[in-house]
Amino acid sequence: MRVIVVGGGVAGWEAAFAASENAEQVILFCGEPCFPYRRPMLSKLAGSSALPEEGFFLGSAGNLPKNLQLRTTSVVSGIDRRKQCVILSTGEEFAYDKLILAVGASAWTPPFDNRAPGRVIAFREYADLRHLQAHLKEGVSHLLLLGGGVLSLELAQALLPLVEHVSVVENAERLLPRNLSTAGSEFVLRRLDRRDGLSFFFSSQLVSFDGQQAVLSDGTEVPAELMIVSCGMRPRLELAQQAMLPCGRGIKVDCSLRTEDSNLYACGDCAEVQGRVTGLYADAKRSGALAGRNAVTGDEAEKFCFRPGEMRMNALGVKLLSAGSVDGMETALEGDGAENFRKLYCKGERKEGLTLIGDWSGSAALLAGLDR
Ligand SMILES: Cc1cc2nc3c(=O)[nH]c(=O)nc-3n(C[C@H](O)[C@H](O)[C@H](O)COP(=O)(O)OP(=O)(O)OC[C@H]3O[C@@H](n4cnc5c(N)ncnc54)[C@H](O)[C@@H]3O)c2cc1C
Repeated sequence: MRVIVVGGGVAGWEAAFAASENAEQVILFCGEPCFPYRRPMLSKLAGSSALPEEGFFLGSAGNLPKNLQLRTTSVVSGIDRRKQCVILSTGEEFAYDKLILAVGASAWTPPFDNRAPGRVIAFREYADLRHLQAHLKEGVSHLLLLGGGVLSLELAQALLPLVEHVSVVENAERLLPRNLSTAGSEFVLRRLDRRDGLSFFFSSQLVSFDGQQAVLSDGTEVPAELMIVSCGMRPRLELAQQAMLPCGRGIKVDCSLRTEDSNLYACGDCAEVQGRVTGLYADAKRSGALAGRNAVTGDEAEKFCFRPGEMRMNALGVKLLSAGSVDGMETALEGDGAENFRKLYCKGERKEGLTLIGDWSGSAALLAGLDR
């Protein structure tokens, strides 16, 4: 049996490894020019000019199983389901018995009048890191971070020492709106290490950017020579749509990660399971391994579901853990107070969410106690 995996992120990597345990041949096509790597490390490396060290990569050419072939800089541009083959952008065709789509997501950029596309980085891939490092080498004094989520705060932490000023522009009226309650966001804003050179603009939409300044919806002009966009992700659906596979927010798969075509599977950020898409590394990793196993064995016993998200951040003096849904009743936990924010979120009897800022003591037991 030949298994083809498209996409060399963590989901594709895990899928290829798992499939290689039982298939005769596995080919992993990676659009990016480098060996598969740990994507979350990109933001941590943003402030360094050095090339990533070994721990950045998911493995090395020397430790691939003999039946697993990795092809970097290989973009799959089409799927012919009738002939059971994928078509590369070079026109080459590769037949498959089973095909696993692990094409991930792209960074979403809200619409604005972009008059300096070369100075706007939608931060997602290794090439974006290199692009950013090249700009920093030339010298950047004013940087704009579009989006007030975890990624922007991590980038602010990494880049503040290298630039004069960082402006964070957020559409919502508060920081981390996807992960925290209003009280949690307010606490973070108070506790943030408010260094000189760091400004926040809330309830602000970007209207235009020309490489010297950004104009916001209320007319505010923010000096900025470079912009990094981190406003969330959108699953890549083009290949699946072109192959006429059902898609919603992601490529629709059942709980065994199979699409409506029994030879095609999808996993990671591009997959939609029971109406949900992920966006989290651990979920992508788990789903990749399961898709790889199921594609070869045809097994359907193990059911996959995305776990309620868990987010950890340690940036700008704030150590934060947030899990599950934080829109239920907010109850203070022991240790909550001026120095630490420790809350549990309940809906009726169900403990649905948790936020710990500062003091994380007891986090393992608290996480285990959530009704998921
Ligand atoms: C900067 C950053 C920081 C993050 N930090 C965290 C974190 O702290 N915690 C957390 O849980 N999550 C984090 N995430 C999210 C996490 O990285 C993703 O959930 C995870 O990488 C998804 O893995 P994936 O394999 O599904 O997709 P991706 O990582 O998106 O990989 C998909 C790969 O497929 C390739 N590809 C796409 N189309 C094709 C094609 N047609 N042909 C060939 N190749 C193709 C892409 O080039 C890409 O290499 C972060 C993401 C970013 C960008």
